[in-house]
Amino acid sequence: MMQTPLTMTQMLERAERYFPKKQVVSRTASGIQRLTYKEIGQRTRKLSDALTKLGVEKGDKVGTLAWNHHRHLEAYFAIPCMGAVLHTINIRLSPQHISYIINHAEDKVLLIDSDILPLIEKCKDELKTVKAFIIMTDEKEVPQTTLSPVYHYETLLAEANPEFQYTTQINENDPAGMCYTSATTGNPKGVVYSHRGIFLHSMAIGLADTLALSEKDVALAVVPMFHANAWGMPFAGVWFGTTLVLPGPNFTPKLLAELIQQEKVTITAGVPTIWMGLLKELEEGSYDLSSLRGILCGGSAAPKGMIKTFEQKYNIPFMHGYGMTETSPLAVFSSLKSYQQDLDYEERLELRAKQGVLVPGLEMKILGQNGEVAWNGTEMGELCLRGPWIASEYYQDERTKDAFHDGWLHTGDVATIDEEGFVKIVDRTKDLIKSGGEWISSVDLENALMAHEAVFEAAVVAVPHERWLERPVACVVLKDAYKGKTTKEELFEFLQPQFAKWWIPDDILFIEEVPKTSVGKFLKMALRDQVQKEVSQ
Ligand code: ADP
Repeated sequence: MMQTPLTMTQMLERAERYFPKKQVVSRTASGIQRLTYKEIGQRTRKLSDALTKLGVEKGDKVGTLAWNHHRHLEAYFAIPCMGAVLHTINIRLSPQHISYIINHAEDKVLLIDSDILPLIEKCKDELKTVKAFIIMTDEKEVPQTTLSPVYHYETLLAEANPEFQYTTQINENDPAGMCYTSATTGNPKGVVYSHRGIFLHSMAIGLADTLALSEKDVALAVVPMFHANAWGMPFAGVWFGTTLVLPGPNFTPKLLAELIQQEKVTITAGVPTIWMGLLKELEEGSYDLSSLRGILCGGSAAPKGMIKTFEQKYNIPFMHGYGMTETSPLAVFSSLKSYQQDLDYEERLELRAKQGVLVPGLEMKILGQNGEVAWNGTEMGELCLRGPWIASEYYQDERTKDAFHDGWLHTGDVATIDEEGFVKIVDRTKDLIKSGGEWISSVDLENALMAHEAVFEAAVVAVPHERWLERPVACVVLKDAYKGKTTKEELFEFLQPQFAKWWIPDDILFIEEVPKTSVGKFLKMALRDQVQKEVSQ
């Protein structure tokens, strides 16, 4: 066979050549803008030209600090196609972490949304490698800023060549992108994506038994584009000629519901907290979301109760996937086998609440204390992955040796696998609760609680215990209508028939809000501290 390189340039060229009329719908601070792939292609080439004129060369890192919109999408292609490295920066991190990762990656240029300027102004004295700041704004002028030298995105594009040619020789293993995981302890760790990795991961997203993303879709990318490649939707979407809908800054559940309705979105992806918010909105307002063929939920376990409500009350099919920054991210996807379609709804739901089956192209093993665990759905071990879109190291980081050894990525996630090969993530290693030498899954308890009609969110954490070393305590946010009415006794009664006695939490605390990470996941560490303080008082 021919050895043609798997690079991103051909992904962009395909969109330009075959889908010039298809659109990207982009919400920015000044409203909705519609651009065709012809325009996106020209603007992308202009951006590459402008960056070349600013001195960006092959291998240089260009950072983005931006929401989901067309300019960010242009950067997603302009930077890798010219041989540079797209470094998407999580704008919800602390200024200290942001400075750390910009310096660690050695970003040469930063592309910044105007509303994020104050954040970067705070870091500017720390930044050691940045030679230019480009402000992405709809305004005619660059807003007032203390950053220097600063350029205006649209002015640069107005002066650039829309037919800029990608002549830099790119090897498929060259870096195309990088992203740092949001660290709960220590500094964030960097992951570098190759052209080949992005190419093959994009193909995987198009497979019929995963997302089946295609030209026919209208895909709403809710996952921030600064988080794990927005789960691959922008890359694959452009390549396939999918209509992409980018929701811009500060969107609300109401705005998402309106966008889905107006743009007739067929598929969307995000973390459970986003979908919890949307459910709340659907309960209050009236929307026609019948265009949706699927909502992909990942990043944290999709609670069964939520899947059920979306499907049974609103007739919206739910998809569940698992991945991490280190895995591009899609690695495991829950798709029922043909013969499982005949199971009754509760059994199907049980399976679909699991993270699912390994995506073709990857390899997996679950390592327990005595080697690989049996496929029996009960034995627990650490999920290990390898394959062409799994990282092989952390970027210039000593912590590589903790997670990458023997040719595998050790994910730090504890999982079981059943007879059908369905993986279930039981917990993150650090969130598992070890009570009297036995493991308790906080995720299972949370799922059960969130299936109660009064519960909006529930998070279960370990508290130290003299005899059992650790015991679970549940923190529950009640839905507004149930506040002050539902009691912990009711919730205990609800849990008791579902679990062994020793799994039942020692206490249930009602709280106003579960603390969240920068990407909307439960921040267990903060909650643990909060609960431990409360329990010891
Ligand atoms: P961060 O580490 O910043 O949270 P990642 O996106 O890399 O960002 O997080 C990956 C982790 O998220 C996984 O290791 C796993 O613990 C969790 N995760 C992702 N998808 C799921 C899922 N479907 N169910 C349960 N946990 C998930």
